[in-house]
Amino acid sequence: MQTILPDKNQQHLPRAAARFVTAKKAVALTGAGISVGSGIADFRSPGGLWSVFSPDEYATLDVFLSNPQKAWQLYREMGRSLLGKKPNRAHQVLADFENDGLLQGLVTQNVDNLHQAAGSRKVLEIHGDHQHLHCLQCGHVTPVTEDHYHLEEVPHCHSCSYPYKPNVVLFGESVRSLHHIEELLTNCDLLLVIGTSAQVYPAAGLPELVKQQGGLIYEFNQEQALSVPGSRGSLPLPDFFFQGDLAITLPMFGEAVRNATKR
Ligand SMILES: [Zn+2]
Repeated sequence: MQTILPDKNQQHLPRAAARFVTAKKAVALTGAGISVGSGIADFRSPGGLWSVFSPDEYATLDVFLSNPQKAWQLYREMGRSLLGKKPNRAHQVLADFENDGLLQGLVTQNVDNLHQAAGSRKVLEIHGDHQHLHCLQCGHVTPVTEDHYHLEEVPHCHSCSYPYKPNVVLFGESVRSLHHIEELLTNCDLLLVIGTSAQVYPAAGLPELVKQQGGLIYEFNQEQALSVPGSRGSLPLPDFFFQGDLAITLPMFGEAVRNATKR
């Protein structure tokens, strides 16, 4: 593994960029870390949403079904934390890669819609999105408005009057897009892992899958997290590790890639 820091030891950066531009099918996997630069705190971080609203107590399907009023205390808080947020430079780099034909799509664990806001088109949201409400009874889907997060009452389906739930995947629900992820990852020969430690299924299996296909792994995180399964964290999995603030390391990589495509 080669570690690339923003301020020194840049010798590996041109090589990482050159190998990225020659990849046949590069894909990105993103998590909460990429949205920190947009002012959205990682729910799992100290002081994050999960430390205020325990997921077991608020974020399960059972809680929504038995007590939607209680579940909506969390949904309102989560929704308000996402209102008005804008993509940052890291999101922009990925949208530019896709536009330039260098990235074939991305899988995200985020529900904030910021990849699409930055201009990414092929976005697989495995945990759903927080921009729509979904009726579990009749399947109706409607966009959220600020009122949904500011009013005290639980919104009800326009078609059948059942309580709406945000179009996010709750604990106890199935993750989305598994079939599309499989398609996207088939023949993937380079995976950018960005702002996630990829500990949770299905994200957890993707870096290893790409490795088994003979592909390369580039990790962008504050702290190195991906390791060879079974090595108990002792064998790092990535070929290149970009250490530091993603709003700095991704634009730095983006610029190196632009330079590499000019050659
Ligand atoms: Zn309905």
